[in-house]
Parts: sequence; C-alpha cells; structure tokens
Amino acid sequence: MQFHLNGFRPGDPSVSDPLDHAARGPDLPDTTDVLTVGCGPAGLTLAAQMSAFEDIQTVIVDQKPGPLQLGQADGVAVRSMEMFQAFGFADRLMKEAYWVNEVTFWKPSPDDPSVITRTGRAQDTEDGLSEFPHVILNQARVHDFYLDIMRRSASRAEPYYSRQLTELTTVRAAEYPVCATFTNLDTGQTETIRAKYAVGCDGARSAVRQAIGQKLEGDSDNVAWGVMDVLAVTDFPDIRFKALIQSETEGSIVLIPREGGYLARFYIEMDKLRRDERVSHRNITVDQLIAAANRILHPYMLDVKEVAWWSVYEIGQRLCPKFDNGTAEHLPNVFIAGDACHTHSPKAGQGMNVSMRDSFNLGWKLAGVLRGQYPSDLLQTYSQERQAVAQMLIDFDREWARVIAGKADVADGTFDDYFVRHLRYTAGTTIQYRPSRLTDDDTHQALATGYQIGTRFHSAPVVRAADARRMELGHVAQADGRWRLYAFGGEGDTGAPGMPMAALCDWLVQDPGSPIVQYGAPGADPDALIDLRAVFRQGHAELDTSQLPALLIPAKGKLGLRDYEKVFCPDHKADETIFELRGIAPKGCMVLVRPDQHIAMLAPLEGTARLGAFFDGIMQVWG
Ligand SMILES: Cc1cc2nc3c(=O)[nH]c(=O)nc-3n(C[C@H](O)[C@H](O)[C@H](O)COP(=O)(O)OP(=O)(O)OC[C@H]3O[C@@H](n4cnc5c(N)ncnc54)[C@H](O)[C@@H]3O)c2cc1C
Repeated sequence: MQFHLNGFRPGDPSVSDPLDHAARGPDLPDTTDVLTVGCGPAGLTLAAQMSAFEDIQTVIVDQKPGPLQLGQADGVAVRSMEMFQAFGFADRLMKEAYWVNEVTFWKPSPDDPSVITRTGRAQDTEDGLSEFPHVILNQARVHDFYLDIMRRSASRAEPYYSRQLTELTTVRAAEYPVCATFTNLDTGQTETIRAKYAVGCDGARSAVRQAIGQKLEGDSDNVAWGVMDVLAVTDFPDIRFKALIQSETEGSIVLIPREGGYLARFYIEMDKLRRDERVSHRNITVDQLIAAANRILHPYMLDVKEVAWWSVYEIGQRLCPKFDNGTAEHLPNVFIAGDACHTHSPKAGQGMNVSMRDSFNLGWKLAGVLRGQYPSDLLQTYSQERQAVAQMLIDFDREWARVIAGKADVADGTFDDYFVRHLRYTAGTTIQYRPSRLTDDDTHQALATGYQIGTRFHSAPVVRAADARRMELGHVAQADGRWRLYAFGGEGDTGAPGMPMAALCDWLVQDPGSPIVQYGAPGADPDALIDLRAVFRQGHAELDTSQLPALLIPAKGKLGLRDYEKVFCPDHKADETIFELRGIAPKGCMVLVRPDQHIAMLAPLEGTARLGAFFDGIMQVWG
C-alpha cells in the first residue's frame, strides 16, 4: 500500500481526506452524475467503484430502511475475490469466510438405496487457478465491506435508504436527462432527482427495467426449492464440507458450510409445482424444510437448534435481451445490472458474483465518459459484453439445476464429473470477452500463452526490485479506473537505454502517438492513465536499477517523489517463475489490462503502433 505521496499525513492511510462538500444532507440532492438504484451486490460494487473518483457525483438509493443484515447469497467465487483485492478487502473477507476446499458427493447406496452413501470427493479449486480460495460468506458482510470503502472515500459516500423508486423517465438532450421519482418510505413524501446516468441494480423485480421497457424473458422450471441457514447437531459426517446429496426418492440437498464454524446452509429440493402454480401457493414452512432434509439425509439425522434465516423459491432462468435503453438513434443513459437483467437458481453460487462483475464492467466506463476520457458510445460495450456473459450463465444454470435434481442425462460423464468439469466456470475465471474495440484479436496470443486475451489477468508471484518483497503481480491493480500495462522483458534486456524495454518507455513518454502523451490529463502523474509495470528476467540483485528509464521510477505528486514500486523480477526461489507459468515468449511482450482486470491486448515490446491504435480506437482528448 502506498501513501504519503503528497506529504506526511498521520492516521489510517485507507481513509481519504474528505472533500469540502463531502457532508451530505438528509434529502436527495437535485442532481447527480450517476444515480444507482439498489444497494445489493451490483449496486454497491458500482457505488464503491464510483467513490474512487472524487470529481464524479454519485447517489445510491434503496427502499430498505438500512443495510442488509442476513440471508440471500453467500458464495464468493475466486474471480470475485480477485476483484475484491482491487477494492482492498479480500484479506478481511478471507479471514472471516468459510473456505471451500473440497466437495463431497453422496448418492443412494447400491446395497440399500433408501440410505445415502458418499461416492466421491473432489478438490474444489484446482491448483494454480487463482491465488485466492473459493469462499462462503453472508452477502450482508460483502455489503458491509463495500459500505466501508465508500465511507473511507473522499466523498464519504453513504446510501439514501427508505427511498422507493416509483417513476423513471428520460428527456434526451438535457444536461441531466434522467429524472427519477422516489417515495420516501419514512415520511411519505415524494423526492425527485435528475441524473446524467442511472443504473438499475434493483433486483429481479426491477422498476428501472420496467421503466426502460425491457423484459426478463424465460421460464420457471416449476420446481420449489427451500433454503435455510441453521445451527444444528447432526451425525452426518460431511457437515463441514460442501456436499451434493441425492437421495433415491426424497430429492436433493446442496449443503454449504458457512462462516464461523457452526452455521450451515441447506438448499433442499421440494415438490414439483403444477403448471402456473407459484411457490407462494404451497405455504411451505421451515418445519417442512427440516423434515425434508432429514428424509434426504437418511440414515443421518439433523437436529436443528436454531434457524438463522430461511426462504422458499422456484427456479427460473430469465434474461433481458439488452441491458440498457440505447436505440439506433440514441446512446444509452440508463443501464440495468445484476438480478435486474438476469435471474437463475442460486445453487451454482453465481447470482451475487455475476451481478458484482456486471457493475465492475460498467463503473470505469461511466467514470471515463463523465470525465471526457472516452466518447459516450463506449457505454454500448457494457450491454454487449455482459449480456453475452449472462446468456452463458443462463445456459449453464439450466443444465446445472437439472443435474443437481438428478433429471439430466449428462453427456459423457456422471454427476461428479460434470461438477468437476465446470468448476473453472463457476470460479468465474473462464469468462472471455469477444474481440471488440476493448478487446484485441489474437494476433499476438503466442507471446504469452497463459494470458488469454479477453480473460481476466491471472496473477503470479514476483519479487519487487526496489525492496525484494515477494508479492502477487496482479495485486498492484486497484479499482481506480486506470489501465495497467505489464511489460515483460526479453532475454538479456536490462532496461538499459536502447533496449526494447527502455525504447517502449521512451515512446510512452515522448512520442506524439503515445496514449499518455495524447490522452493523459494535463499535469497528471505519468501513471494516471496507464500504470506501467515492468518485469525483468534477472533476479532483483542482478538488476541495475540506476540505469532504468525514468518512467519506471517516475516522479509523482505535489512533491515530485519517486515511485519505486513499478519494477519487478521473477521469484527464482519458486519452482516456476512468472515467465514459465504464463508462457511468456523469450523476446518478452506487453500485456494491456483493462480497469476491470480483463486482458485487452498482447503485443511485442516493439508493438507501439498497435498499442497507440488501440487507444486511438477508444479514447478522446481529455476534457
Ligand atoms: C429473498 C432472496 C433470497 C435469495 N437467496 C439466495 C440464496 O439463497 N443463494 C443465492 O446464491 N442467491 C440468493 N438470492 C439471489 C442473490 O441474492 C442475488 O443474485 C444477488 O443479490 C443479486 O444482486 P443484485 O444487486 O442484482 O440485486 P439484489 O441483491 O436483489 O438487490 C436489489 C436491491 O434493490 C432494492 N430495490 C428493489 N426495488 C427497489 C425500488 N423500487 N426502489 C429502491 N430500491 C429498490 C432492494 O431493496 C435491494 O436492496 C436471493 C435473493 C433474494 C431477493
């Protein structure tokens, strides 16, 4: 963590100095740059991301009287942990959460199908998939971490609670084209706010979605499922393992151990619903859930001592064809994210994860457009990229729900095999954006086979040259809207003048075609737009840092202090270095990473024209 850049400041370095106008009144302001409706995972990811930009005004609103306390989702995929690292709270979450290390599989015993028996176990997250574990933690705690980030930001951002959106309209060509009307549920009064952009993160019954004329399309599977978080005494031996349990005639359970060592969540398959029957018509009680759990677990018993939370729902896979209000004539200014535009069963643990990553995709684009860095048509890429991801999720979830319920013929494999094969997908690491102006084609893919263009940047261990600290390279990336350019040196490149690494740095600082020269804000630090990090092949003791180009030890801030944290070396104590782990070619390469951690392009170190052309395709001169 870096601090004191603009002068020594005592106290907690994670708390920013407040802006002059940080204190806000009790009423909604008249106008804002970005209005976010809904304080679920999607809305809070967006609000936390926007709070990093001091020059952008944001307002987040929810109809609830205060923060979520319990229930709803709990699975945090490794890809989300990587995103939390960029927000700065992955460590806190790991400390508190349950870690899903192994999964066990239970089926009817071949000798006596009326009892279940363990048929297998599998490692949950394959070695090397991520530096983070797959964890389980109450959604409410994830919300808390985001709220904490917002409170520590310069704007001291806080949601406005007890505000229910009742109407949202747009007037094209106005400075604040979106007009939202809320009922204050405490006072009964109506409040109106105008915004440049609005984002509906208001869940499956989204009023924003309805206001922009979008519909969730798809079906319910007509199967009722119950979920309960319980403190219980049991003789079921795998109570602290994630377990997929199928009984012969009584249905299925997905067991998720929870944080704290005692709590466990049971997803329980209940009855098939009749056509057009809603789950609410069944009046299912928690006692029925407990009884069903005991029948499925037979011969084991579950003695529930306390029910912390429970709910009943029906599975449905529904998706909006478009995630914004853009038309052929008009660019979008209202967006929807999370459950507002895709709903599916919770058992693959994707709802919260995919919702958060929707708004992580949108946040930096909104900020850049509002600042004048990108043309506003860049916002069209949000729906294009995330709708495709959601379609894949819906397809996966439909099959997964049937597999869990034991109703699918899973091609080439059993239930256990199917689960293992799809672990990478559920971990969130296989998402790959298609070629577009934000994602280059694969012309130079061979330069780094472990960095697939369009996928997330996969971290690996390195040693920081300035102080020999072993660390993860990917952890230099923060959720701050900046691009990262990782330059991997070729064999023999010492960074000395004239070598490819130095030539790249010279071009970035001096050439009229460089994105930093063309599109950097006047007077900004040299890494404000693109944060360059160099990884050399030598051990840190062999690297002569005195001859490195100035851009790798840049002068920054009010005092012109040098930033010594831009240069890295391989961790030669490890079995494989980052160069082998990620298949980097002997001549090196550069890897350009978007502000949302996805790889935008690969190019040779000499490929400056390609780098320049990429930024020319997405940026405009600041202002
Ligand atoms: C009751 C419930 C139980 C769930 N159980 C599970 C589970 O067991 N496992 C699992 O994996 N997932 C579960 N989910 C789904 C999971 O929580 C979601 O996938 C995830 O929260 C999606 O995040 P989101 O931010 O898109 O929407 P949400 O988390 O639904 O957040 C939407 C927010 O918008 C607010 N809002 C809605 N309408 C308005 C309005 N008109 N005005 C102002 N504010 C509004 C809501 O109060 C809410 O805070 C559950 C969801 C719900 C609602």
